[in-house]
Amino acid sequence: MTNIKKILVANRGEIAIRVMRTAREMGINTVAIFSEADRNALHVRYADEAVLVGPPPSNESYLRMDKVIQAAKLTGADAIHPGYGFLSENEEFARLVEHEGLIFIGPSSESIKLMGNKLAAKAAVSKFNVPLVPGTSEPIENVNEAKIIASEIGYPILIKASAGGGGKGMRIVQQEADFEEQMDRATSEARSAFGDGSVFIEKYITKPRHIEFQVLGDKHGNVVHVFDRECSIQRRHQKVIEEAPSCILTPEKRVAMGEAAVNVAKSCGYYSAGTVEFILDDQLNFYFLEMNTRLQVEHPVTEEITGLDLVQLQILIAAGDEIPFNQKDLKINGHAIEVRVYAEDPANNFLPDIGTLRTYMRPQGLGIRVDDGFEQGMEIPFYYDPMIAKLITHAQNREAAIAKMIRAIQEYEITGIQTTLGFCEFVMHHDAFISGNFDTRFVENYFTPGALQQIPSAEEEKIAAALASLLANGTKTNDNELAIRAGSKWKKARL
Ligand code: ADP
Ligand code: ADP
Ligand code: MG
Repeated sequence: MTNIKKILVANRGEIAIRVMRTAREMGINTVAIFSEADRNALHVRYADEAVLVGPPPSNESYLRMDKVIQAAKLTGADAIHPGYGFLSENEEFARLVEHEGLIFIGPSSESIKLMGNKLAAKAAVSKFNVPLVPGTSEPIENVNEAKIIASEIGYPILIKASAGGGGKGMRIVQQEADFEEQMDRATSEARSAFGDGSVFIEKYITKPRHIEFQVLGDKHGNVVHVFDRECSIQRRHQKVIEEAPSCILTPEKRVAMGEAAVNVAKSCGYYSAGTVEFILDDQLNFYFLEMNTRLQVEHPVTEEITGLDLVQLQILIAAGDEIPFNQKDLKINGHAIEVRVYAEDPANNFLPDIGTLRTYMRPQGLGIRVDDGFEQGMEIPFYYDPMIAKLITHAQNREAAIAKMIRAIQEYEITGIQTTLGFCEFVMHHDAFISGNFDTRFVENYFTPGALQQIPSAEEEKIAAALASLLANGTKTNDNELAIRAGSKWKKARL
């Protein structure tokens, strides 16, 4: 057991509750922090103690390092878990926490610093034989020189913010004529989002798939990977649906990529849970993208297929324990899918649609997990990330996990705001998704707002199932007529 008795969770919403649940199971007390907008939030009620850290805007509350550390001292917490987002990838915060004699439940500030800059990360991992996307290894200083490099690499290219995250500060350039304008945009977006405007160039991989590996390291130099997650269903370069394992990796490819991921972790002396992200081209060549030095939003799918509690492992590792298993002990059990339920309107370019949750009923049953931070009647505050919940299904294989997800989405009742649930159901029914033949351009290639009307609802599925069985048992003479009637009923039910 650990020497940690009380953990302050420097976050809000579902991830704060997720961390506190494990702490409670381990007999560790919990402290929440909250802003004035979160006085009645579930994470505040869940914690043993809670400290108000400031007004609603995150830079006056959740991002105030001094106030967070003060709250930990005030309550006698001996460790801080940063969750994801906010201060989780801030090397200065990690350093400050340790400087104050508290335990940071995450990697060292040196690892965060190295991997927080995409160019520095690429330089570090290149020494470990990890394949990189062709591109520049320095920030772009001179537009004309950059254009020459871009034409050598070949269009389309991607301009990326070195300090980037959450899909921000990234621009695809199709042809040289657009280069300057897109570079200006990427630079100003990067400067306003990350306070650092440096950008670089990468080849834009065609038919890209985003596949990442969960890694775990301890303070004794042990590093393992806990398999892969497929995260190619994205909007605005940000994930909406994730699954584990990826259905296109062969066992050999999984071993090769897993080894590369472990090398990336070793290149920065990594401990705690982290994620190594790769991009795959249509020939299944893989290239290192970046490492996220924190718990990932989609970590539950890995937990479902391995039975591991990644937060528990983070806590044990922070306390100095060795990882309690070896690579060869790990096995994949079944298949898990996560859909992110965002307060966004898929019919309107996935723009945030915040408001009050008038109805909020979670799905239930075997193989279903909901990680959320809201209850019926609550408001989604406009100040923070508009994610309401993560819905996760786990079953013996991918087909069954998809069927379970469709059932769970149909049971999920949310009114008062638009959500991504309908879009996620559309994906679950789509041939490209079902067959596994898709890439990160799924939304651009297949999704139109009108497609949401095409999704069969639970009621229609019942009618269809009844008709299908009628057809299967039906009389030979009436087959055609039944089929036609089946079609018309189907249509009517959709209106
Ligand atoms: P993940 O990387 O875990 O798959 P996201 O890309 O959605 O998931 O990012 C996780 C959370 O962290 C989101 O709330 C996102 O807004 C936030 N985030 C990610 N990177 C940054 C960053 N560099 N600065 C601020 N917020 C970030
Ligand atoms: P962030 O820090 O914003 O998460 P990433 O480098 O991880 O930035 O890239 C986010 C997403 O952008 C990827 O999941 C992928 O969809 C797309 N992307 C990034 N680099 C490339 C590339 N070289 N070619 C094609 N798509 C890319
Ligand atoms: Mg990324």
